[in-house]
Amino acid sequence: MGERFLDTEEVGSSILPVPTIFRSSSRSMIDNIQVILPGGKPVEVRRGSRIDELASAQRADGAVIAAKIDGRPVDLNRPLENDCSLEWISIETPEGLDVLRHSTAHLMAQAVQSLFPRTQVTIGPTIEDGFYYDFKRDQAFTTEELEKIEHRMEEIAKSNLKVTREEMPKSQAIELFRRMGEGYKVAILEDILEDTVSLYRQGDWVDLCRGPHVPSTGVIKAFKLTGVAGAYWRGNEKNEMLQRIYGTSWPTRQALKEHLRLVEEAKKRDHRKLGQELGLFMISDSIGPGLPVWLPKGALVRSILERYIVDIERSLGYQHVNTPQLARVDLYKRSGHWDHFKDNMYPLMAFENKEELVLRPMNCPHHIIIYKHELHSYRDLPIRLAELGTMYRYERSGVLSGLSRVRAMTLNDAHIFCLPEQIQSEAVGVLRLIQRVYRDFGFKDYWYRLSLRNPQDKVNFVDNDAMWDTAESYLRQALAEVGVQYKEAPGEAAYYGPKIDVQLNDVLGHGETLSTVQLDFYLPERFELEYVDKDGQYKRPVMIHRGVISTMERMMAFLIEHHAGNFPLWLAPVQIKIVTVTDQQLDYARGILKQLKDGGFRVELDERNEKLGYKIREAQLAKIPYAVVIGDKEVQAEKVAPRRRGGENLPPMALTEFVEKLKSEILEERGEA
Ligand SMILES: [Zn+2]
Ligand SMILES: [Zn+2]
Repeated sequence: MGERFLDTEEVGSSILPVPTIFRSSSRSMIDNIQVILPGGKPVEVRRGSRIDELASAQRADGAVIAAKIDGRPVDLNRPLENDCSLEWISIETPEGLDVLRHSTAHLMAQAVQSLFPRTQVTIGPTIEDGFYYDFKRDQAFTTEELEKIEHRMEEIAKSNLKVTREEMPKSQAIELFRRMGEGYKVAILEDILEDTVSLYRQGDWVDLCRGPHVPSTGVIKAFKLTGVAGAYWRGNEKNEMLQRIYGTSWPTRQALKEHLRLVEEAKKRDHRKLGQELGLFMISDSIGPGLPVWLPKGALVRSILERYIVDIERSLGYQHVNTPQLARVDLYKRSGHWDHFKDNMYPLMAFENKEELVLRPMNCPHHIIIYKHELHSYRDLPIRLAELGTMYRYERSGVLSGLSRVRAMTLNDAHIFCLPEQIQSEAVGVLRLIQRVYRDFGFKDYWYRLSLRNPQDKVNFVDNDAMWDTAESYLRQALAEVGVQYKEAPGEAAYYGPKIDVQLNDVLGHGETLSTVQLDFYLPERFELEYVDKDGQYKRPVMIHRGVISTMERMMAFLIEHHAGNFPLWLAPVQIKIVTVTDQQLDYARGILKQLKDGGFRVELDERNEKLGYKIREAQLAKIPYAVVIGDKEVQAEKVAPRRRGGENLPPMALTEFVEKLKSEILEERGEA
């Protein structure tokens, strides 16, 4: 694990300032405040009462590990200073798991420093399913040492140390950590702008942290350290190397056990491992990291994917185009990509005649130029331009991973230019296309996310409330028309507009965006796109960016992991392997090979002089859907004996019957039966 989560490392970092509302608990005025309890009941309590005094009376179960005052997460032992509303954070919720996991990171750091006293601590945020903590220690942590740390963590958890929060002036905290020899904490503190910071103590161990934390270490019951890796201080390759210890933590032993089981399953399905074993793709150091090379079998699957989606799109009125993979930088200045996306773009290619080109990070501007090439009437719209567009994005080498995080990719892209009143029907059309495609690929575990702007954030989202409100309501109507449930995700929209993302769950239940429908009123404005309306006026069309089968790279990675390498028959690079019992049957087998090939199947004949069992086993390992066994009996009866990938032997049958069977199986997979 690890590398794919690096971009979330700021989550839960321990350097945020203390909110004003919680400062200065020194007032001892005896007066009452009003607290709205979870569920909405108001109660009068003495100012300064602690949440856990209320909690013990109010909470229904023991799963509460933190609380929220007016929406801000806090410790259970926090005093209530002002009128406020209170909510519980349960250990079962994502927020509660976050508190549990970050508390486990503290527990680990305490264990590490008690075992290896000269080790310095840096940061220890939570990540998906777990946490890490970065340490500065000269020797590398060994596997045996990780076990020792885990053991010490268990001891500290059992001793049920109280976890307490204290606040102090920043200067005092700097002094404290300097005396402790914690130079990294001093550096973190020096970057904090606020004057007051909070510390968390458990036993004799202390850390700079905004919290909240579990009330005592005994709440932490089921954890495992999962690995150690190098990590640069502040993620910068110019800084010193630290050691990052990863771990996972769960409310119960059973939940931990189930998680570890799924992790093992995910490892078996890892597309990087299967991709190599099945000869689908490679990453070559000579070519460069993040630049995958599709081997013949992988390229075959890719071409099936490409043909599949292009054919469907064509039937739905998309027009396919081909545009270059690079353009003048001015194009990207006008689109705004150069300003907003520059970190992910490759450097300029500048020529002596001052011409400046860049590799494209997206295809949208090219399609916009095609739209602008002609004057359009309202009668021409919608115009749906599609392309399997290759593009280039610079990703830090640390986050590159197989086919799922790459630097060169080909997107199943399309841009729909339409009238405002066509938005809903176009969005519905895309959603129905996504549903159809997912059925054909055998994806069942997916859900819809409506990604909205953060209305407070006028920097990362175009500042135009009316535009956002209109766009959001169109997407809601589209979702309602298709009749699907969805979750709203404020702050997840694109810079230029809201979007519907379709999230597929992997083995570990993590959602990954594969398809997307994005509304855009912004680029048509930037590029002054127009159509002539009924009344003869020039008006702006709306643009919809949509991707259905994602990039070929990501889709391939997902397909491999989803099917554990067992591609459905219609997608398998080799669908049938013919194996003979002895060389005696080779002539007959070659005839079968030819007939199957002529029938359009992807088929191979194993002509090697090997034992039947060995050849069948190899076909099995290559995850080929069917092995066709041919012995003397089959030759005499003019039949074939098919054997399914899973090991099931079908009765010998005439070749025509087998072909019919294959055809109907493919139709069934594709939902066309
Ligand atoms: Zn912390
Ligand atoms: Zn686009």
